[in-house]
Amino acid sequence: MASPVGRQYGGARTRLLDELRLKGVRDLAVLRAFDLTPRHLFVPTGVQYRAYEDTPLPIGSAQTISQPSVHARYLELLAFTGSEKVLEVGTGSGYQTILLAHLAARVFSVERIAPLLDRAREVIRECGVSNVSLMFGDGTYGWKAFAPYDAILVSAASPDVPQPLVDQLADGGRMLVPVGGREEQRLVLITRNGVSLARKELDPVRFVPLLGDHGWTDQA
Ligand code: SAH
Repeated sequence: MASPVGRQYGGARTRLLDELRLKGVRDLAVLRAFDLTPRHLFVPTGVQYRAYEDTPLPIGSAQTISQPSVHARYLELLAFTGSEKVLEVGTGSGYQTILLAHLAARVFSVERIAPLLDRAREVIRECGVSNVSLMFGDGTYGWKAFAPYDAILVSAASPDVPQPLVDQLADGGRMLVPVGGREEQRLVLITRNGVSLARKELDPVRFVPLLGDHGWTDQA
């Protein structure tokens, strides 16, 4: 497949890969996904020159794209084999959507801010991947039509784990969701084994709020 990424910012992307390796990222499939994904296309032009720094950046509509090493940690935790069907809640810029597209078989992503979703749709098309489906709406309901999912990644923080997402997790499936207060949360890993669910509390994190019927219901 011809690379739509081109080699623009290629040097900067290579330096980001070196930095991720130095920070402990070992999964070669994850590193390859970063190498294939043009982060500069997912951030506003004003901050493009910083696109390959390991730092969060604004993406408009008061939302932010996470730090690459944070994405890398989550992607490693989900231990993709390439055959998974994945649900992403909070498309945002679409950057993580593309990382997932390189790691899993199919990606379904839901976003509640229309201008962000429109922009993400355009950039995702430019990237030339064909295994991503996007939907506008409240992702706290998941995306029932394509459930169950082998992995669910929630990119915004919720006071509790949204029940519809738990219901849409496949047997053996894994879900990462930041859970806690408005300002600080814990990353939670939920693993389904038949009807039983294992819950593991991981890193302290800070995410933008998951606004919706099964998240924060005040639309502040
Ligand atoms: N991972 C994204 C950044 C996500 S920022 C990236 O790579 O760019 C978190 C996103 O979650 C924001 O775009 C926000 O609008 C979205 N969001 C918050 N609540 C949501 C909900 N209920 N349903 C869908 N998206 C939601």
